[in-house]
Amino acid sequence: MTDETAKQQAGTQVDDNHSSQPVIKVTAEDLPLSCPMPGVTLWSQHPRVFIPIKNGEGHCPYCGNHFVLKSS
Ligand SMILES: [Zn+2]
Repeated sequence: MTDETAKQQAGTQVDDNHSSQPVIKVTAEDLPLSCPMPGVTLWSQHPRVFIPIKNGEGHCPYCGNHFVLKSS
């Protein structure tokens, strides 16, 4: 599966050149990763979804949060 195919399946448009989306660093202790994460502010809430991590990164199709897995 190519990266391009993965983006289409996610149903969102990802622009890697656009840096306005927040980057949330997570560790293995946060897995399985869900969004919104506990403690987030109400304005960013949406139905909880689990975020698949691929190549150390994940992307929320609802709010656009970009998760980066840190090996700590
Ligand atoms: Zn989200």
